[in-house]
Amino acid sequence: MSRPFITIDLEKIEHNARTITRLCGKYGIEVAGVTKVTCGMPQVGKAMLRGGVTAIGESRMENILRLKANGVNAPFMLLRIPPLSAVEDIVTSVDISLNSELSVIAALSEAAHRRGLVHKIIIMVDLGDLREGVWPDDLLPMSREIMELPGVRIVGLGANLSCYGGVVPSEENMGRLVACARDLEGHLGIQLQYVSGGNSSALNLIASGKMPRGINHMRIGEGILLGRETVKRAPWPGTYQDAFLLNAEVIELKEKPSIPVGETGEDAFGRKPVFEDKGEMLRAILNIGREDVDVAGMAPDDERLSILGASSDHLLVDVTVAGDEIRLGDDLRFGLNYSALLAAMTSMYVEKRPLREGVVEQPHKGIVMIGVPSAMILRAPSVVERLVRGYGVIKPHIPGGVEIWSPGPGVASYLIPGFERLGFHVVNKGDLSFPFLSKEFATESSTFEDRKALVIRIAEEVAPHIQESVSEDCIPIVMSSHPAASLGVYLGLSRLSNRPGLIVFSAHGGFKVALEEGEERISRMTLAAALGYGDEELASCGGISPKLEPENIVLVGLRDVGSEEAKLITRSRIKVFTMEDIDALGMREVSYRALRAAGMGTWGLHVTLDLSVLDPTVAPGVMKPVNGGISYRETHLAMEMIAMSGLLRSLDVVGFSPERDPEMVTARVISEFILSLFGKKILGQ
Ligand SMILES: *Cc1c(COP(=O)(O)O)cnc(C)c1O
Repeated sequence: MSRPFITIDLEKIEHNARTITRLCGKYGIEVAGVTKVTCGMPQVGKAMLRGGVTAIGESRMENILRLKANGVNAPFMLLRIPPLSAVEDIVTSVDISLNSELSVIAALSEAAHRRGLVHKIIIMVDLGDLREGVWPDDLLPMSREIMELPGVRIVGLGANLSCYGGVVPSEENMGRLVACARDLEGHLGIQLQYVSGGNSSALNLIASGKMPRGINHMRIGEGILLGRETVKRAPWPGTYQDAFLLNAEVIELKEKPSIPVGETGEDAFGRKPVFEDKGEMLRAILNIGREDVDVAGMAPDDERLSILGASSDHLLVDVTVAGDEIRLGDDLRFGLNYSALLAAMTSMYVEKRPLREGVVEQPHKGIVMIGVPSAMILRAPSVVERLVRGYGVIKPHIPGGVEIWSPGPGVASYLIPGFERLGFHVVNKGDLSFPFLSKEFATESSTFEDRKALVIRIAEEVAPHIQESVSEDCIPIVMSSHPAASLGVYLGLSRLSNRPGLIVFSAHGGFKVALEEGEERISRMTLAAALGYGDEELASCGGISPKLEPENIVLVGLRDVGSEEAKLITRSRIKVFTMEDIDALGMREVSYRALRAAGMGTWGLHVTLDLSVLDPTVAPGVMKPVNGGISYRETHLAMEMIAMSGLLRSLDVVGFSPERDPEMVTARVISEFILSLFGKKILGQ
């Protein structure tokens, strides 16, 4: 673990938010906390809400989704003017957007109206800063047209200063905004809920008591996060400036001259450096550079240190004054300005450590592992013996070669230490106990009706565990050798008030509805049943049908599908990326598109990993191996991208075959994939 890291003191952020919201509250001003510089870090959003902000302002949809998926329960305000291409996502995922273009508002209107929604908009007025906003003369004619549109409602006016033109908020320009609002209310006969005056540059005007009455809303980022107003960047009274500290390690520490030796040319960034001769100095090299931060925006926490310069991956610090207090391997800390903070929060090389009471606060409370056993025919005694040794959990041998088996404990033995290293709290529920599971269900003579009854029963047993874990803000991981265990997971999800989107990694569609000769039967019907197709009893198990909405379902890695099944998949309107799509687009693009399709408008993501999606050379121990699956590297990439999106809310991993995996190769490799889904990097951590 030698990455640079940034500590994020959530208590200081909460305190700063409280200072600012109290100040604003005194003047009747509500505050939306702006999290964009932290890339929508959920812990930061929660700290701001604890400190009294009434909404979260964000400039990017990805960040809003990440915040929502991780339990940030607040109205969301989209700050950046929406692109035409994103209106569908915005009306489903955002409460209020800031707008200045009539054609975008018309598109929002159309998208919202089609869904029976009303989307709230704040019209931005340009008071002279020349970034976003309608010129005041155009406000009334444009608003008249907006009033004709169904599906959108004007709830306020807003302005943004000090961003491009550096125009400072004043009694005069803020007064003009209030006048625009009153004028609009008079002409249109409406009441505006918000007159949103601006950002952290308005703090001085507010504190001086001169902010015109009528301004009742602000959108504050930097003031809360870095404790500064932004006209002069002066520290704001009663706030902390060091909620964020960047830490990097000393990797070289040597006495060197202060002037380079030899003829000098351009440096690595094309500049001709100049040096001042300070004689010999003690110089530290740190493992951070321009790749990760804006060096000009960093200031050493220890005032005796000074930054000499940086290349892509190295930061040079003069530590002469501190002398032998600094040692090789020490972490040195730096305060950051807005631009350095933005770079550090965006850099994938900088680890983020949101701290509350000194410990890293995870976006969720922990992980709950649940094993779902099934009955299996394991004929070869040697296999059984090896499984008992490896997994240690095969239930007593039932005469006739049937065993009751679950991959849960075996995989857990690899996973739990890995999760603990990542800092997650893990509850291992072990295998669910199914006294009704017996050998009849595994023998080839069992009927479709028998098996269906079993699957329904298992689904009903699994569902409450999912509901419970997710509602307690934990991430459940269900493991089973039976793909039908997913049905129970989907049933559990369907009972939640907020339904997640779904990405299913599987070689098979799961869309069989008719019984055909020689097929795996119910395990191939899961997705169809969850969408309400096929066998009535199966589809309506648990009393909810359909359990899932097709809009937010994505199937990835499809390569083994019957022709009837293919027709139904098309009809179902779920989104599919076949192996051919992955070959053509690459896994990065496919994962990106899958995340968008499953994540938009939902409150998070469930992932089903049916092991059949993997190439059998990667995971040999699967129920129905099909050649040509996704590779080791592709799987890690997809898992890492899902981890980075911050959208994951629950997971099920199905399709293990113990018979094909006596050495537990598959169990090991799957554990690696799961860890990477929870943020473990192949390198780095
Ligand atoms: C970023 C942003 C803010 C917040 O600005 P701070 O200076 O961080 O307070 C407010 N409004 C809009 C439109 C923004 O884009």
